[in-house]
Amino acid sequence: MAKLYDVIIIGSGPAGYTAAIYASRANLSVLMFQGYQVGGQLMLTSDVENYPGFEEGILGPPMMEKFEAQARRFGTEMIPEDVNEIDFSRRPFKITTDSGEYLARTIIIATGASAKWLGLPSEQRLQGRGVSACATCDGFFFKNKDVAVVGGGDTALEEAIFLTRYANHVTLIHRRDSLRASKIMQDRAFKNPKISFIWNADVTEVLGEDEVTGLRLRDVKTGEEGTVPVQGLFLAIGHKPNTDLFKGVIEMDRAGYIVPIEHTMTNIPGVFAAGDVTDHRYRQAVTAAGDGCRAAIDLERWLESLGVDVGVENWD
Ligand code: NAP
Repeated sequence: MAKLYDVIIIGSGPAGYTAAIYASRANLSVLMFQGYQVGGQLMLTSDVENYPGFEEGILGPPMMEKFEAQARRFGTEMIPEDVNEIDFSRRPFKITTDSGEYLARTIIIATGASAKWLGLPSEQRLQGRGVSACATCDGFFFKNKDVAVVGGGDTALEEAIFLTRYANHVTLIHRRDSLRASKIMQDRAFKNPKISFIWNADVTEVLGEDEVTGLRLRDVKTGEEGTVPVQGLFLAIGHKPNTDLFKGVIEMDRAGYIVPIEHTMTNIPGVFAAGDVTDHRYRQAVTAAGDGCRAAIDLERWLESLGVDVGVENWD
């Protein structure tokens, strides 16, 4: 016998937990699939200093523990599993995971996005110790240091320009000899005296034992290798929304981000989306949390408009 919940939330980042807090406090029965990697992108972040309410800052992982504890306090059930399949064609919706089948009157998709990485072992080893995929989050820690940004799109230039507020110098490393970024961003970056460019180069290794000391580069045209001394490496080679599970069913833009149709509700009535899975622009913990709140309020009103008797039920 499967259990029927008023709402099943998929994803355990700031959007998912905030939606859980709001929905549980509204007396809805809430189940969250946290994913096998509980806590989302903030689990890869060190100090979070720009989330209001933590005046001294807080590390990403304990921050997510606080989010989780707050949602549990109001009764959200949680399962640290990925969702394998969703049947959107029936009501209630049916969700299948490794542990079984679950039914939901409504669903909130809060699966987030993942930064793309180069895939180097040294890059992974030094994540949070000089390697970052978020200048807004970590730029502050590179005051008067030399840093590099990899990428040639708008994000790379935006991050490079942002980093010049703190860093002594920013080297932008791009795999081609022309940028993909918009003209206006290119003009700004070219004019900035603190930014220099290395063209046609791949990063083949991040150097350093416990912290970044430099990069090994390879010229993609000549194969020539060289090193550049930096204390920080910022990846800006794009993000990928975690939406594979919803392809062909939930409306998305060309990059795969979910496009809500009515406030936070998607093209399928009763299915809502919140956080980075819908947002390639802001990508902040606080904006994702705000979105989670909106989704919970939207779905509560939607259930109310249908006159649904809310509460957890067993279903044959
Ligand atoms: P993007 O436009 O897809 O650019 C990604 C960049 O990373 C490209 O230059 C690409 O090189 C490079 N890259 C990809 N994989 C790589 C790899 N494995 N190794 C080395 N380099 C790699 O991504 P984005 O900059 O994040 O922008 C995403 C979207 O958001 C765009 O539509 C952008 O315009 C928009 N955006 C807008 C703003 C703004 O308006 N202020 C700010 C940020 C983002 P190639 O060029 O060789 O493919």
